[in-house]
Amino acid sequence: MRAAESPSRRIERTLHRLYARVAQRPSSASLFQCIGKLELERGFTYPSVRFSAHCAADVAFRCSLELAPNDVWTILYFASLHHARGWHEDAIALCGRAHELAPPLDLPLIHMGDAFASLRKYGDADRCYRQAVEIDPNSEVAKARLEKWLKFWIPERERRRRHAGRCWACGYDLRDDQSNDVETLALTCPNCGKTQPPTKR
Ligand SMILES: [Zn+2]
Repeated sequence: MRAAESPSRRIERTLHRLYARVAQRPSSASLFQCIGKLELERGFTYPSVRFSAHCAADVAFRCSLELAPNDVWTILYFASLHHARGWHEDAIALCGRAHELAPPLDLPLIHMGDAFASLRKYGDADRCYRQAVEIDPNSEVAKARLEKWLKFWIPERERRRRHAGRCWACGYDLRDDQSNDVETLALTCPNCGKTQPPTKR
């Protein structure tokens, strides 16, 4: 009996086939999208080739968007690539574009929330996850993501409220400041703009 093909072999073989097709179908946005997705998957699965896989995915998504600039799915995959590379601002910009193109879709807001959370912009993340559920109340993905998020955020917000004291630089009372969102409370003083040291757990 033949051994089952390894995931690595499957990705390599499929990519080889798709790259061979580019010469015949150089104007196929969906072909480039498929290549980008697979390169992204290769990068996720195999850390040793991550850099080259991400570069290849980048080129493929750019080619795809040249041919079909308003393809929401390519834009979202490209945002996932930026997120995986730690380029969260770029991911947010792309998610914003996807949201404009497809306002009833929950995924752009979910991915945008993830990127904001990675930047520790928790208030913005919270708004995105909530908005994703508002625009699509039947989305199980959006509901599950918000639920998971709140498990982190509700205790974290409480912890910040408890620990925020006076600004180390100017003495401003961070607890009583109503204009300052709690998500930035421990990070930036609204009075002098100085970054606060991390609060203790
Ligand atoms: Zn201050």
